Amino acid sequence: MSVKYIFITGGVVSSLGKGLTSASLAMLLEQKGLKVAMLKFDPYLNVDPGTMNPFQHGEVYVTDDGAETDLDLGHYYRYSHSALSKASNATSGQIYDTVIKQERKGDYLGKTVQVIPHITDEIKKRIIECTKQSGDVDVTLVEIGGTVGDIESLPFLEAIRQFLYDNPKDCLTIHLTYVPYLKAAGEVKTKPTQHSVQILREIGIIPNMILCRCEQSLSDEILDKISLFCSVARPLVFEEVDVEDSIYEVPIKLHEQGIDTKICELLQLSSTKPDLSAWHEILKTIRNPKGKVVVGIVGKYMQHQDAYKSVFESLEHGAIAHGYEIEIRRFESDKILENDEIDEAMKGCDGYLVPGGFGERGWMGKIFTAKYCRENKIPFFGICLGMQVMVCEFARHVLNLPDANTTEIDPQTKDPVVSLLSEQAHVKNLGGTMRLGAYPCHLSHGSKAFKAYQQQDISERHRHRYEFNNQYKKAMEDKGMLFSGTYNEGDLVEISEVKDHPWMIGVQFHPEFKSKPTQAHPLFKDFVGAMIEQSKKR
Ligand code: GLN
Repeated sequence: MSVKYIFITGGVVSSLGKGLTSASLAMLLEQKGLKVAMLKFDPYLNVDPGTMNPFQHGEVYVTDDGAETDLDLGHYYRYSHSALSKASNATSGQIYDTVIKQERKGDYLGKTVQVIPHITDEIKKRIIECTKQSGDVDVTLVEIGGTVGDIESLPFLEAIRQFLYDNPKDCLTIHLTYVPYLKAAGEVKTKPTQHSVQILREIGIIPNMILCRCEQSLSDEILDKISLFCSVARPLVFEEVDVEDSIYEVPIKLHEQGIDTKICELLQLSSTKPDLSAWHEILKTIRNPKGKVVVGIVGKYMQHQDAYKSVFESLEHGAIAHGYEIEIRRFESDKILENDEIDEAMKGCDGYLVPGGFGERGWMGKIFTAKYCRENKIPFFGICLGMQVMVCEFARHVLNLPDANTTEIDPQTKDPVVSLLSEQAHVKNLGGTMRLGAYPCHLSHGSKAFKAYQQQDISERHRHRYEFNNQYKKAMEDKGMLFSGTYNEGDLVEISEVKDHPWMIGVQFHPEFKSKPTQAHPLFKDFVGAMIEQSKKR
């Protein structure tokens, strides 16, 4: 049987949760026994989101093969088992870059290089490549970033129109739209949806299904109206109402309306009845938790909803694994030291997490947090920059090296406890040049890390330029630091833990990229476990 393709476009406004919806559909199809590949197209010109400020773009999600990708791939990972790689995310920048490089080589043999057909051909090629790389798949789900009507998404939509023309029996298009409720008028409005479907039709794409994002359930009258004016049969118009308890309700609600069955019918995919029991269990835990822990996250981008997306989600997974609820308190790392009552404010949390980051702003607030947790024996989890903070704090206050620093912040420091990776010394371009992707890590027996993972050899994903400086290893070990995880080939410290402490662990990698609601990452699960113990003391 040929591979089927589902294209998901978005209308009216951005931030509708297209990624979450795509991930939910992938999960439902998988539960129906199908193998799914996923691809996200992003219409911006950056080659990848790695060079963007988190305020602009939110988190950068990293795959095993070292691609710096859109955070929607994190949703794909958490909901589905689709293989994510460099082939799973393509930006306009990447596509133009490929075409222009080919032009410079002379590959176009004297032809004028144009958006159509050269850019659109490259887009179609990426769809096929992603499908092939994902193995023996039944369905490839392609999400098109941005909103229909944007100038920059046009080449993607034109490529999809051609793809539909070439493979009419194997494709399905789903348009995710927004149906607002106007308080002043006391009415739900369908016009923005009508207009966005009109734009799609002008481009030559007629959606097969419409999925309406809305705050409250829509009446039959409204759904009938959308069906008639958008020329989409009524049984193929669905709603996606804001969820109350958790984003993990989204797939369940879609399934309750029968969307997965309809997709299989339209694409003539033979499938089984999905087993959603694990997801129902998760929701049951979220609705009836045994207790609650409070975690403080100390970072630079705390007001941004999505800057630490995977960290937030992984903490939730850790809590679910214990049947607990987790409250996240956000601390702006550069404001902490300005707060006169900070000691009081810090007392309210059962543990602290310092996530990854770059640059000097907020560094001292993070050092303060590590010191506070170490001295008061409060669980502390440092991720990437968070581990670098942890070792610098230890060197400053336990080894009495007041200048201990990372050379990222003070290149001239007397005590470079964290310094540039040797392979980074000659790097000039900032894009795509960090130590990226999965590397093996060996854990020492008897360590807290080993206890959490229950295995000696693990693989985790990285995104950094600096590393712990092994010259300080012996002195730190003598004072009670355990370097419990190492990348032996490069002799790099990957995990450090404070021995005389209930749970103070720093990791140079990003465990948050490998946690699922159905399978919490071992370190997040263990960290929440330590916070539960701490909460009993409060
Ligand atoms: N800025 C640090 C480095 O490059 C940490 C990076 C991170 O936290 N992702 O090593």
